[in-house]
Parts: sequence; structure tokens; C-alpha cells
Amino acid sequence: MKRYSAFAIAREAFRAHTGWDKAWARAEPKRRYDVIIVGAGGHGLATAYYLGKNFGITNVAVLEKNWLGGGNTGRNTTIIRSNYLQDPSAAIYEKSRSLYEHLSQDLNYNVMFSPRGVMMLAQTQHEIRGYQRTAHANALQGVKTEFITPERVKELCPIIELKGPRYPVLGALWQERGGTARHDAVAWGYARACSDMGMDIIQNCEVTGVRTEAGKVQGVSTTLGEIDCAKLGVVVAGHSGALADMAAFRLPIESVALQALVSEPIKPCMDVVVMANTVHGYMSQSDKGEMVIGGGADGYNNYTQRGSFHHIEETVRALVETFPMISRLKMLRQWGGIVDMTGDRSPILSKTPVENMFMNCGWGTGGFKAIPGSGWGFAELMATGESALCAEFSLDRFREGRFIDESVAAGVAH
Ligand SMILES: Cc1cc2nc3c(=O)[nH]c(=O)nc-3n(C[C@H](O)[C@H](O)[C@H](O)COP(=O)(O)OP(=O)(O)OC[C@H]3O[C@@H](n4cnc5c(N)ncnc54)[C@H](O)[C@@H]3O)c2cc1C
Repeated sequence: MKRYSAFAIAREAFRAHTGWDKAWARAEPKRRYDVIIVGAGGHGLATAYYLGKNFGITNVAVLEKNWLGGGNTGRNTTIIRSNYLQDPSAAIYEKSRSLYEHLSQDLNYNVMFSPRGVMMLAQTQHEIRGYQRTAHANALQGVKTEFITPERVKELCPIIELKGPRYPVLGALWQERGGTARHDAVAWGYARACSDMGMDIIQNCEVTGVRTEAGKVQGVSTTLGEIDCAKLGVVVAGHSGALADMAAFRLPIESVALQALVSEPIKPCMDVVVMANTVHGYMSQSDKGEMVIGGGADGYNNYTQRGSFHHIEETVRALVETFPMISRLKMLRQWGGIVDMTGDRSPILSKTPVENMFMNCGWGTGGFKAIPGSGWGFAELMATGESALCAEFSLDRFREGRFIDESVAAGVAH
């Protein structure tokens, strides 16, 4: 595949852009693959990419029931950070954040990583103590974060109201190299690189069954027919429970709709990401000028990829207290995605009761930031059977009571 470069843009400008290759090939399923990945979201595509790049495994198919990147990967608010509390979380999220730093160069695709800084507001004494604890833990983990004063918060984000009607801003946990990236571009960049390695990305191909024999995976049934594989990776976020059901085991996962909304575009007014746990809302400004606003998760299990009015009201109320200027903005659109929540708010990257079938799920409200790190670790687990990055996130932890509690780090949906 031809590389994207400044020279290529100039060359194509002179020939009416007729020389670009298709970003990825349209593939028909083969009878058998070494590895099948179910789900062409960011995590599935990243897994396929690192299987090829790090382990030379390229006889791989990524099966997607809709269009690639159309799940949560294309529906999130794109916040990237690694300021989690527990050591295994800091390790995988920081690996991911550091991979984002050079992902555009690695994939030869501009994913628009923007390390503009992420702040998580402390609005109660309890939050101050919690975030100071996280800052100390991060220092030991080699993750660069700091607890900053309200004055510094105002300096970094002038549109914020420090003395809100309910909760004052008392400080914030600040990660300078956190930020955002273009979500679609992450999926497209990985897809293009996988296709370039000869992998098959097969859209409109729903997996409807998992075939096993003597406890070992044999392949999958799909809407395009039977496909065999030596190893199967299931990376379907909110639909993980349904896929596990096809293989006759259960997962400790609940699926709920999480929603977001976006305003009309305005001139640049905010060049950091702000998250407010206590009032529950978070906001950043996209490169187009829209204010990207994250809302809450539904309080009941469901599979509707839709928003709901009561969440809009709660979220907008929280943000108007924090940023009074947004009360004059019109909202353009809202949407929802089905997120996969575990009890300890940490992911599952694991072998399963079925031999050679692996699950990557449970990223819940915060897995966009983890795409490169998760793909890196999960590819290692699938290729070699072991991965230091994934070891603590196995399914066994629920049986053994080794929870990796990140309910504070994931307290505001992000
Ligand atoms: C509103 C919202 C805001 C969010 N904000 C953030 C944020 O700011 N920062 C952050 O880090 N995270 C955020 N997240 C979470 C993040 O989006 C997800 O954790 C992440 O995108 C999950 O990626 P994935 O690849 O696992 O899943 P997905 O992108 O959902 O991909 C799974 C794919 O599997 C496919 N699939 C399902 N069933 C089948 C089947 N039977 N056969 C074939 N294919 C199937 C689906 O169609 C889908 O394309 C947010 C999520 C939402 C919904």
C-alpha cells in the first residue's frame, strides 16, 4: 500500500486525487484462519495489528456484524489518560497512552492524538484526599500526574466557574500528557495497517455461533457461513455476554447504554479536557469547535444505542454549574453506545473455559484510551498464552476475589 506523506498529497493534488489506494480491501471469508477476531472495534483491530506486527501472525480475519468502528469506538468522547489507582491498571493504561504518542507515525495514519492535558476536578474534601492518593500512587508507578490548586485550574481553563452554586472547585488531578484522539481514525488506521499485512476485515458478517469440540474451539458460524480457526478472540464490548452464551459460559458483565452529546461549533475556548465527578459531567472541545460532552450510563441493562432525555438534563445541569457559558449553546446531537461493565470497573483480558478462545471486554465507559495497550497485551496473550500486561485481568479474579477496584478512576463515565 502506498504510504501517506506530504509528498503524496502534493503528487495527488496534481492528478485530481485519482491515485490513492483503497484504505482497506473488501474481503470474502476463507474456509479457515489461524486466528479469528470477532468485533472490528478499536480493541479487535488493534489486537489483529499487534498479532501481525509483534508475532508475525497474519492469517487473521476480523469479523464485524456492522461496519468497522461503528460500535463504541465510533461513539465515545475520546478522552485518553492513565491516572488510574491500581498497579495493573496504571501499567496497561500508561502503556496505551505511551503508544498513542507515536501511533500516527506507527500506523502511517493521522489519528490526531492531542495531548492537551486532562484534569479531574476535586469538589469535595473526600475527592481531594482520593486524588492526592492517586497522584502519590502514580508517582510510584511512573505515571506523570500532579494535584493542582484551584488557581492553576482557572489558569488552565479560564471558562470554568470555581465557586459553583453547589460545589466549589477545590483542586484537580492533572495529567499533562493526557488528551484526546480522533476515534474513527484510530479504527481506520488500524484497519488499513491490518489489511496491508494481508489480513481479512470482513464487514456485515455477524457471528451467530461458536463451534467447539471436546472443550476446544473449532470455529464460528456466521451470516456468511461457517469459518474455522485455530484460535478465537472475542472483542465485542457490550455484546460479550451474548458471545459467551454462544460458547456456553457466563461472564460477570452487565451491558448498559452510555450517552454523549455535542454542541454547535464555537470559536476555541477550552484547550484542556475537564472531568467533574461530583456533579457528573465532562467536556472537551473538538478541533471543529464543538463542545463534546459526556453523560451518564443508564441505571438498567439494555442494548439500545440511544440517548435519553433525563440524562441530557442531568448532564447539562452539571455542566452549566461548572461552565456557565455553555447555557447559551445549542446542542447538535446526542447518541448512545452499549458499554460492558464489570463489578470492579476493570477489564477482562483472559483465557476462557473453552480452549483457544479468549475474551477481551469489560472496558466499560473508559476503553477508548486503552485501545493500543489492550491490543498489544491481548495479542501477546493470544499468540503465546501469557502476557504480563493482561495477567491480573483474567476471569479467575472474580472467582478468587482479586478485584482490581477502579470505581473511583471510572467514577465519571469517560
Ligand atoms: C458515549 C460514550 C462515551 C465514551 N467515552 C470514552 C472516553 O472519553 N474515553 C475512553 O477511554 N472511553 C470512552 N468510552 C468507552 C469506549 O468507547 C469503549 O470502551 C471502547 O470503544 C470499546 O471498544 P471495543 O473495540 O471493545 O468495542 P466496540 O467499538 O463497541 O466494538 C465491538 C464491535 O463488535 C461488533 N459485534 C458485536 N457483536 C458481534 C457479533 N455477534 N458478530 C460480529 N461483530 C459483533 C460490534 O458491531 C462492534 O463494532 C465511551 C463510550 C461511550 C458509549
